[in-house]
Amino acid sequence: MAAAAPYDAAMSGAALAVGVLAAFVVGMNLWYFAEYVLHRFAMHELRGRGMMSREHLTHHVTARWKFSSTHVLSWIGVGLVGGAVWFPVGWWVGGPWVGLALSVGWASGYASYEWTHAMCHLRPPRNRYQRWVRRHHFHHHFGAPMANQGVTVGWWDRLFGTGELPDTVRIPRRLAQGLPWLLDDDGNLRPELAQDYELVGAFGTDERQAEIDRVRAFASQVPTD
Ligand SMILES: [Zn+2]
Ligand SMILES: [Zn+2]
Repeated sequence: MAAAAPYDAAMSGAALAVGVLAAFVVGMNLWYFAEYVLHRFAMHELRGRGMMSREHLTHHVTARWKFSSTHVLSWIGVGLVGGAVWFPVGWWVGGPWVGLALSVGWASGYASYEWTHAMCHLRPPRNRYQRWVRRHHFHHHFGAPMANQGVTVGWWDRLFGTGELPDTVRIPRRLAQGLPWLLDDDGNLRPELAQDYELVGAFGTDERQAEIDRVRAFASQVPTD
């Protein structure tokens, strides 16, 4: 029996490693599911009722991304859910390391969302995923605000039938300024992006157009050209 002990220890070590890895992946996907549900129901469906919805629909008005204090509140909320819900749930299922991996996976999913969303608005695509995630998210902004509720991943939209991706994503010129990487120095669409995007309407805005943009964003309607 003594000879079996190191083997058993190695087996349980391997099982733990697999459990921890699986819990991390599940934790990330718990976030991606929450990302879909929160974006669709707590942000768009609520039409500006509550801080989360108001903040998000304000982001739709101009399509600009900037850091705000609400990001800190979001991180606190995500941390609380990770610590108070996913950590004990994971512990109950597989012990403390599984609990830790589940909650760290959850927070990592959230971090990947925040980073990906900010980069969509601020930096040009550099690979296939980055190209897809920008087209997917900007079609949500400018073509179909009730579609593409997942930001980081597309599978929840496919599952719930809300995924949509035209060959060319249309962007009103006045709102393209929220995506500085899209335009060259003269304000034209960069030629290498012409197969993915098309600019419509005029540059510049005024108070009336800004009010129309606000009303339509808060009703989750497509911005006018
Ligand atoms: Zn956005
Ligand atoms: Zn949105």
